Amino acid sequence: MHRSKLPNEGITIFSEMSALARRINAINLGQGFPDFTPDQTVIKHLREAFLHSTHQYAPMKGNEKLRKLLADKINFFQNTKLNEENITITAGATQAIFCAITSFIHPEDEVIILDPGYDSYRPSVLFNSGVPVAVPSQPPLFRPDFDRIKDAITDKTKIIIVNTPNNPGTHVWTRQDWENLADILSRREDIIVLSDEVYEHIVFDGKKHVSVLSIDGLKERAIAVYSFGKTFHATGWKIGYAVASNRIIHEFDKIHQYVVYAVNNVMQEGLASYLEHVKQHNGFEVLDQSDFFQKKRDFLYEALSKTRLKPIKPEGTYFMLADYSELSDKPDMEFAIELAHKIGVVTIPLSPLFINQPKELRMIRLCFAKKDETLEQAVAKLSQL
Ligand code: PMP
Ligand code: GLN
Repeated sequence: MHRSKLPNEGITIFSEMSALARRINAINLGQGFPDFTPDQTVIKHLREAFLHSTHQYAPMKGNEKLRKLLADKINFFQNTKLNEENITITAGATQAIFCAITSFIHPEDEVIILDPGYDSYRPSVLFNSGVPVAVPSQPPLFRPDFDRIKDAITDKTKIIIVNTPNNPGTHVWTRQDWENLADILSRREDIIVLSDEVYEHIVFDGKKHVSVLSIDGLKERAIAVYSFGKTFHATGWKIGYAVASNRIIHEFDKIHQYVVYAVNNVMQEGLASYLEHVKQHNGFEVLDQSDFFQKKRDFLYEALSKTRLKPIKPEGTYFMLADYSELSDKPDMEFAIELAHKIGVVTIPLSPLFINQPKELRMIRLCFAKKDETLEQAVAKLSQL
């Protein structure tokens, strides 16, 4: 018989809940994806690229103009001094995460993963025969617990994975948080910080995204990953990028070149042309999605506050956690499935996003990257609770 490399993995909770939504024709506030289209100007640039691109391989690291513009963009927002050599275009952030872990994890190396977290981290470590070490975070927004992080570090620790703005925790790391981590890692320069920053442009209440790339003591050994899918409301594009110091990105590229070699060239040309337009005409500020999503967050938060679900106000991302303990004592998976059948709204139960699932967790996650009318329809149904 063939021996599975991931014997304990099934299909992801996101696939499972989206399939349920399709099957019963429910409103899908589960898997994170917008139900509206990207800005027509981006589409125009992509269409032009389809008509005029060479349709042949991009360079291995990606289109040079695009990488230069991305360096400009990060330098603009984070006051960094990056250039195109620090950037590699990837097939979405998921591939960047996989390649980053594969670049540095040898059998038995430990990777610290803050629990709960995005679902691909743990299998990417296991696939490389590494050891995922889950560190619990502090509910309800699941902020990092630095004492526990410190305690989890051993001689075998090789990577710590951070995600800010955080999915599903929905908190945002402050500069002080980063400095706490830098302090903890000050004598361990061998530990790489893999920072998942795909929601960089969705931060609320006037707060700002702080990238690991701007933190002294961390930036030299960091890899930050991003996704155009989030920036442009287009999760289906599956294109993103990884950013790191020359030494680190060189190791990353060695793996990347044998995983995909190079990423969809037409998309890269179209995106480069759009970002050039943005840089010349509007300024990179227009990429920020915070005000747009804050209105949706506030609408959903106020509506849910009137129900027996207790919403927890997100600091960033397009997700909101809600505590349902006043409504039911059932485990979250059962509750989410019943909710879908009863009122026709699909959500994500939180426990599958933990490595060590806490007992008595009564939380679901709702995605508010939806048209106002979708959110209104969902709220009308959720108000029956
Ligand atoms: N990290 C986090 C925290 C995410 O929520 C997601 C996406 N959905 C990703 C990574 C993956 O991004 P992509 O779709 O570009 O692979
Ligand atoms: N990141 C998305 C979410 O959290 C899901 C992406 C996926 O399905 N792989 O909902």
